[in-house]
Amino acid sequence: MCDADSGQQETISPYETNPLQMNPPNKQPDLLQSSSEPDGGSNPDGGSNRVRLVREFGFEAAHRLPNVPDGHKCARLHGHSFRVELVCEGEIDPQSGWLLDFADVKKAFKPQWERLDHHYLNEIEGLENPTAENIARWIWRELKPRLPQLTQVTLAETCTSRCEYRG
Ligand SMILES: [Zn+2]
Repeated sequence: MCDADSGQQETISPYETNPLQMNPPNKQPDLLQSSSEPDGGSNPDGGSNRVRLVREFGFEAAHRLPNVPDGHKCARLHGHSFRVELVCEGEIDPQSGWLLDFADVKKAFKPQWERLDHHYLNEIEGLENPTAENIARWIWRELKPRLPQLTQVTLAETCTSRCEYRG
């Protein structure tokens, strides 16, 4: 996927404004079924201790898609203001009161972010064909070993077009 011509400048919601939003209405509704989660646990107020954290990042980069049909505009060099959304899921730690520190998510992603931001993606090992799909999968493969709570990587090329990868 490459959505190079989207001129719509809709604003992406800054997830940081509500980082503990657990259940976006159109995402993962099964996570609401806390009482049936075998490993979900419970607390005295009812409901599980399972949460879904979302941290969003941005990076600027150039790419071209080498395998598109002749004449396709995405074969030409162009750039995007990419957005990356990292989703982590798990149980709230009873002592700390959180699943993990958002700062740890940022720290874990920093090495990949530095390889992506203001780079020509085609030159990165493993991203010779840097479609949104391949970038999302590349981030997953690089990040999952160091962020085991990671359950989804979303890579958006524009405000209206994104790829979701869940491993
Ligand atoms: Zn593109």
